[in-house]
Amino acid sequence: MFRISDPVLRNVADKVLAGERLSAEDGLYLDEKADLQTLGQLANVVRERRNGNWAYYNTNIHLNPTNVCVYRCRFCAFRADLKDAKAYTFTDEMLRERVLEGRASGATEIHVVGGLHHQKKFEWYVNVVRVIHETCPEIHIKAWTPVEISWFSFISKLSIRDVLEKMVDAGLGSMPGGGAEIFDPEVRKQICEHKADSDVWFDVHRTAHQLGLRSNATMLYGHIEKAEHRIDHLLKLRELQDETGGFQTFIPLAFHPENTELSHIEKPDGLFDLRMIALSRLMLDNFDHIKAYWIMLGQQTAQLALSYGADDIDGTVVHELIYHDAGAKTPEGMKVDQIHHLIREAGREPMERDTLYRRVVRNGRDWTVAGPVCATSVR
Ligand code: SF4
Repeated sequence: MFRISDPVLRNVADKVLAGERLSAEDGLYLDEKADLQTLGQLANVVRERRNGNWAYYNTNIHLNPTNVCVYRCRFCAFRADLKDAKAYTFTDEMLRERVLEGRASGATEIHVVGGLHHQKKFEWYVNVVRVIHETCPEIHIKAWTPVEISWFSFISKLSIRDVLEKMVDAGLGSMPGGGAEIFDPEVRKQICEHKADSDVWFDVHRTAHQLGLRSNATMLYGHIEKAEHRIDHLLKLRELQDETGGFQTFIPLAFHPENTELSHIEKPDGLFDLRMIALSRLMLDNFDHIKAYWIMLGQQTAQLALSYGADDIDGTVVHELIYHDAGAKTPEGMKVDQIHHLIREAGREPMERDTLYRRVVRNGRDWTVAGPVCATSVR
């Protein structure tokens, strides 16, 4: 199946085929030297070993309660100052409207992240979760990155654990993977100097996993980072996953430069996107799922990614703002039949999942869940 003349790559391929763990050196070689075709074929072996021919999606809705933010990450086109014309903050009524819209569209999940509004107290953020939960208890709330959780800890003077416990009491179901960017401190200093560092990021996820919450992880690539930073990032994630097993899916996120302070950097192209998907699948041998986030990749690259290591394309994603503010040209949402078409056209079989990777059995906007989507999904 694999004709590989390069002896180093052949050795890495033999390890992958034997199910052995790849080292940092293997990862660097794959990132810098491997041809895309071999990288993709190897990642596809791992992808099909774990998830067969399934490609997962969910029916979800996004809610960014405010774009006002104390930080000024250089890659961010979403944030606003309090007095900016584009600044906004949701009221309770707006929250309820958004959740009811989600319910009407059959959403199983609401994805909540936003800015760090310096005039809002911790109780305001807890209230966001509570209002959503009380409006529609059956919708799973996946909310707040470690950057937000550590901000809540700072403004409330509560520990990370206490913040998470209060959020869970209000209705929090799991956490998304954002805020990771690139863990290397030097890179972080240049792109998002003031926000939570990697130690904090890992501390929040570790604590969340200890409390029984599942979470995701991301990596922002294609800006000023280099191969060594990407491999370091992936290995750190693999290490925590060995310890807790609490991560569900990894989402490589391509940098979108438009309207950011780094707009002089060219956006990564589709081939680079596919390399990152494949590299992630190969290095993160203890993650069940790799997501090709179609909003960011575009539909065609997301389709291709399903043969380069990805097994999930996120969801219907109504009301995405963060990538669209940074120039994403994709639609703000896709209907379920469009997602099915996209997946089938890529030669895969669609399966709707809920946030916790359980198969969704649907009857119109009503739904129930029926067991894990794959043998390794629920620990
Ligand atoms: S990425 Fe998040 S923390 Fe950074 S400026 Fe944007 S909204 Fe604020």
